[in-house]
Amino acid sequence: MTLYKLGRRHMVGRCFASMVKCCVARSEVVPLHRSITHVGFYIGPVMEPVIAEIKSSEYVTHDVKRFVLTRPKGLKFVPGQGCMVAVDEDGWRNRWRPLTFTSLPTARSLELVVKIYASHQGVTNRMSTLRKGDRLLLKDVFGTIKYQGPGTFFAAGAGITPFLSIFRYLHKNKAIKGNTLVYSNKTSHDVIMDDELAKLLGKGYLKFYTRESVIGFRDRRIDRDLLVALVQNFDQHFYLCGPEAFVHDLERMLRDLGASSASLVFES
Ligand SMILES: Cc1cc2nc3c(=O)[nH]c(=O)nc-3n(C[C@H](O)[C@H](O)[C@H](O)COP(=O)(O)OP(=O)(O)OC[C@H]3O[C@@H](n4cnc5c(N)ncnc54)[C@H](O)[C@@H]3O)c2cc1C
Repeated sequence: MTLYKLGRRHMVGRCFASMVKCCVARSEVVPLHRSITHVGFYIGPVMEPVIAEIKSSEYVTHDVKRFVLTRPKGLKFVPGQGCMVAVDEDGWRNRWRPLTFTSLPTARSLELVVKIYASHQGVTNRMSTLRKGDRLLLKDVFGTIKYQGPGTFFAAGAGITPFLSIFRYLHKNKAIKGNTLVYSNKTSHDVIMDDELAKLLGKGYLKFYTRESVIGFRDRRIDRDLLVALVQNFDQHFYLCGPEAFVHDLERMLRDLGASSASLVFES
């Protein structure tokens, strides 16, 4: 697969937007409301849409649905990559949205883990109505986060999806040791694949909630003090994925605390 490596975070957003614009010509341009940073951005070859049938689907939290799909022949990806997805129904085929594969690159089925925005008539809300036998369209595999070596992963909410595939892959290859996941969610009910992450990462799995509001439990944003306590060594890889503000704040704090550009932004 031809891969193009691009640079820093501000470039990532811009390049992703232009990639999306060029790939979905005459389609609705996708909004970027999740940002991904610091290990480079890879765009695979432009791919004609292929059909993937839903084999099963289930809610894994109150607003996150997991889809297991048939794997179109020839579709290849590496952990951390995703593709553009549309619902194969009249009126929906040109509404492409970026989603990340959470399955292993060698698995017979594909898996998507999708946060459903039920408050308006968007694509994820439409996906919430889909079941076994319904179909999705997939095109244009793109890379966002690529594993560079042991480090600390910071995820918020559905930002866990590229890391799920990476952790599953590392675990399968007995290489997960030395990695830590710091996972922030509003409440414990929002944690995606909690049991699996605990099994995969063991003591390297740390959770924080911003709005748990349970007596005896202290809500905690990932701030500078917490970073100092959590990260003793800033000379390591940092992987960030989540809402733009989350990624932006963490990047700034990590830099302030001595993380080098090389550890935050992929460079060959
Ligand atoms: C590279 C990349 C990979 C991604 N991978 C994943 C993934 O694996 N899993 C995942 O869950 N997400 C992922 N996302 C995010 C996902 O693409 C979006 O959540 C999805 O595109 C939302 O599509 P939508 O049509 O349902 O909502 P959109 O219409 O695109 O709007 C979604 C956002 O706008 C708000 N909004 C817009 N209009 C309204 C309205 N009228 N009323 C209320 N709120 C509104 C919503 O609250 C929400 O914040 C990824 C994003 C990127 C950039």
